[in-house]
Amino acid sequence: MKVIFHQRFYEHYTYDPAAAPGRMEAIVKALEKDFELIETGPALERDLERVHGRQHIQSVKRDPLVYEIGCLAAGGAILAAEMAFDGQTAFGLIRPPGHHASPHSCWGFCYFNNIAIAIKRLFNEEKIESALILDFDLHYGDGTANTFRGSKTMSYLHPEGTNRETFLKDLQQSLWRDKRYDIIAISAGFDRHEEDWGGLLKTEDYFTIGKWTKEFSIENCNGRRFGVLEGGYNHAVLGKNVRSFLQGFKD
Ligand SMILES: [Zn+2]
Repeated sequence: MKVIFHQRFYEHYTYDPAAAPGRMEAIVKALEKDFELIETGPALERDLERVHGRQHIQSVKRDPLVYEIGCLAAGGAILAAEMAFDGQTAFGLIRPPGHHASPHSCWGFCYFNNIAIAIKRLFNEEKIESALILDFDLHYGDGTANTFRGSKTMSYLHPEGTNRETFLKDLQQSLWRDKRYDIIAISAGFDRHEEDWGGLLKTEDYFTIGKWTKEFSIENCNGRRFGVLEGGYNHAVLGKNVRSFLQGFKD
C-alpha cells in the first residue's frame, strides 16, 4: 500500500502539537523502509466548498501558510480516497489534522475536514453513495459528525472505553453491527496510546484495529478502505504506532 505525503508537511505552519517540529519526521522514519511514499497535490477550493462555508474558507486564507498546507492535507485525503476507490488501499500521512473542522468553524489544531472533503468528493463524482467513517482518535471528531449529521448513507463512528479492553470491544462491536458501505474511511489518531495523552492502547492494538478494519472492508466494502492521520503527539512512539496500524491495514 502507498503512503501519501508532501515535503511541505514538515513545515511548522503554526504553534500547536500537531504542527510540532519532528512529528512528521518521526513517522516518515518509521515507515520509509516498508512503505512507498507518493506525493499529493493540493485540494481545489471547490473541494473545500463541498464541506465548508465561504466565510470559514476565507478566515483560514488569512494565514496563507496554513491555507496552503491545509489544501495539501485535504488533497492528500482526496488522493487516498480516490486510490482506495480504485482498489488500492492508501494512507494519507498529512497535517494539519481535520476531524475538529466543522462546516463553519474549527478548533483543536484543525482547519479543513480532510476526511469529509475526500468522502464528499467521491460522492460528488457519483463513485460512492455511502461511507463509514471510523475515528479511533482519543477525541470525538465533532467536525466530521457535524458534517454528516442527518445523513442516511454516511455514518460516523467514534468508539469509547475506559480501559483498553472495553475500548477495543466497543470498536469491534460497533464496527460489525454496521451494514454494508461503499467505502470505509479511517480517522487515524494515535493519541490514545499508553504513552500519549490517552494512556490506554498498546502499539500492537493499532495492528489489531488495522486488521479488523481491513477485514470489515473486504466483507462489506469490496475491500475499499483508506486512512488519514489525525492526532498523536508523543514523537517517541508515534512512528511505530502508525506503522503497526498500517501493517494490519495493508493487503
Ligand atoms: Zn486527538
